[in-house]
Amino acid sequence: MLEASFKGGVYIANPYPLNNIQIEQVALPKQVVLCLQQSVGGEAKPCVNVGERVLTGQVIAQTKGVLLTQVHASISGVVTAIEKRPIVHPSGLDARCIVIDSDGKDEWIEIEKQHQDFLNCTPEKIRQWICEAGIVGMGGAGFPTHTKIQNTQNAHTLIINATECEPGIMCDDSLMQTYPREVMRGVEVLMYACGAKKAIVAIEEDKTEAFNALLLYKFNDSISIKKVPTKYTSGAEKILIKALLGVEISSGAYAADYGILCQNVGTVKAIYDAVIDNKPLISRIVTVTGSAVKYPKNYEVRLGTAFAEIVKKSQPNHHTHHFRVGGMMMGIDIPNAEYAIGKTSNCIFVNNIEAAPSVKACIRCSMCATVCPVNLLPQQLFWYAKSENIDKAQAYHLNDCIECGCCDYVCPSNIPLTQYFNFAKALGKQLEWENQQTNQARARFEFREYRLQRHQKERSEMMAAKKKALKEKMAKETGKGNAQQDKIAQAMARIKKTKEDNA
Ligand code: SF4
Ligand code: SF4
Repeated sequence: MLEASFKGGVYIANPYPLNNIQIEQVALPKQVVLCLQQSVGGEAKPCVNVGERVLTGQVIAQTKGVLLTQVHASISGVVTAIEKRPIVHPSGLDARCIVIDSDGKDEWIEIEKQHQDFLNCTPEKIRQWICEAGIVGMGGAGFPTHTKIQNTQNAHTLIINATECEPGIMCDDSLMQTYPREVMRGVEVLMYACGAKKAIVAIEEDKTEAFNALLLYKFNDSISIKKVPTKYTSGAEKILIKALLGVEISSGAYAADYGILCQNVGTVKAIYDAVIDNKPLISRIVTVTGSAVKYPKNYEVRLGTAFAEIVKKSQPNHHTHHFRVGGMMMGIDIPNAEYAIGKTSNCIFVNNIEAAPSVKACIRCSMCATVCPVNLLPQQLFWYAKSENIDKAQAYHLNDCIECGCCDYVCPSNIPLTQYFNFAKALGKQLEWENQQTNQARARFEFREYRLQRHQKERSEMMAAKKKALKEKMAKETGKGNAQQDKIAQAMARIKKTKEDNA
């Protein structure tokens, strides 16, 4: 029975479903390329040099920034380069990476004792371990987990997002079926770390095996497992919170502002590994799927491995392929599979190249508005975005668009609405930046004018004061001169009188 639902969204069946969701453990790669930017906040600083030998689990890039996470070696071997490489990012720009050639030994750093008795540690200590393990939101957001927990202290509810972000992704389903004990224990650890009194694991209604697997390990009455519709975009944080708790997070606000912490189920497993097993995040589960592969599958693979390594295991056909990382709806297109797996790489689609459908005029059918999960009017937004009327688009809440692509998916005219919204947002940011520049230039000019006027006024006041002082001085000196003349006249008069007396 469904315990939560939400308005809008679209039902999209998994285009390449699997009978067997088992995870294949991938052999150690010969080389890994570890990006220094594994979270939203920028690059960590390398603490190893080219030519240095590193062990699996060793910190190779450090940071103290709240939006950054440190990077660990995912294999043992030798650092062969620290240089820019292509990374999966909407900008398409390269970023600095540490390249390690494997020695084939997978020799680990010394792991201190496990922390089964985490309840005897302070929540601060647990957050520190999570930070040291380099954990980020593994559903795709890449926000550092320790910072998100820190920002949600005194949370009343913890929500575990166990819905697949998009149709076709199966990594979380396979994770829950393979590691249910670790997931449920990880939920308890996270509740303790953030102080939440209850936790809800939200799982899609068609993930029956995963639901039953988690249920077997549910020993804590403060944790409930709730089914949500297998409807895209149930995985979007604000929508999931509204569906489960009826709480609407207002525009510009965060779940933390409402005392709610939301974490992806893969992140919870990584927290278990970090806190209980004392192991950093060095691997993840990735789904390989798409129209061009013979065997869609889930692989557990070391971070930094090239996508090509797991794509070839799924036996792609010999045609030219279209690669998309992160899902068919909101993913990022990449030109080939020579990119490295990062902490947020949940899925890679390998598709045959198909001609794009022809775009027709809007027929005002309103289907886009019906499916919009955040209650926008995409057809109106489209007009304003197309005409670059950004003020109007923003008045229609352009910035609340989560770019889910539901409107594109149902549009009978094949209008790439989300592309227009993406463009309009970028244009809005550009205009805002230009406005800021103009305002700053105006403020600078006005301050200069004020400074010049003040300088002139001060100068005139100073001149006037000087003039006045000079006048006073002269007046004094004139006064002194008169007194002298009086004295001389008096002396002359005395001399004259003496002469007259003597005559
Ligand atoms: S779904 Fe497409 S055609 Fe229909 S109103 Fe929206 S933009 Fe226009
Ligand atoms: S892309 Fe934006 S406008 Fe379109 S359905 Fe999603 S949230 Fe609504």
